[in-house]
Amino acid sequence: MRNNTLIPRNLVMTLNECFYCGMKDPNFIQIQRLFGLKACDYHKASAIRDCNAYMHSMKMVKFEDAINNSKIAQFINYLQNKSDGFSILRSNGILEEGWILKPHVWYNPCLIGCVEDEWHILCHNKVKQLEKSVKISSFVDQVPIELINDTIATLNEGIYKNDYMLYNLYSNKDLSEEVPECEGIFTIPGTNIRIFNY
Ligand SMILES: [Zn+2]
Repeated sequence: MRNNTLIPRNLVMTLNECFYCGMKDPNFIQIQRLFGLKACDYHKASAIRDCNAYMHSMKMVKFEDAINNSKIAQFINYLQNKSDGFSILRSNGILEEGWILKPHVWYNPCLIGCVEDEWHILCHNKVKQLEKSVKISSFVDQVPIELINDTIATLNEGIYKNDYMLYNLYSNKDLSEEVPECEGIFTIPGTNIRIFNY
């Protein structure tokens, strides 16, 4: 095993092998499209743990994980069960109808994020082809307050908290969490950008 833990990264132009042990034909564990870790069946659990720890520290929640959490699922289901969608307050001050939660798509799996201490959920307007990140607290007029409070409390607590604690427990601080590189390609330090180095 090369490392106990790894930090998720841009998967573009990385070796097609498990980042933990080098086994060929790995699974892709992705937080967003082509961002995550590659892992063999044996290390798949480690890759999920490390991706979850990353999402905990970045305050992001994937749709599939949100819907599998009983508290957050109640809030999501309540919004999704509104047959005509719901209203959101646009930045011009107008309350606009016809919005739904952004449908889950494989290339854009993150649904919930936290900006300036406010949890936001991704919404979509099919007619206008618009997407907007909406404060969960702003649904107070359309969703029972208990569902909103439970959801925000659950998000603040962190649904990936256990994996974050495990990541810190197993983290090899003396190693730099390096992943084997393809020849001639590297990630620009401090960024997520991968380039050829001629
Ligand atoms: Zn492996």
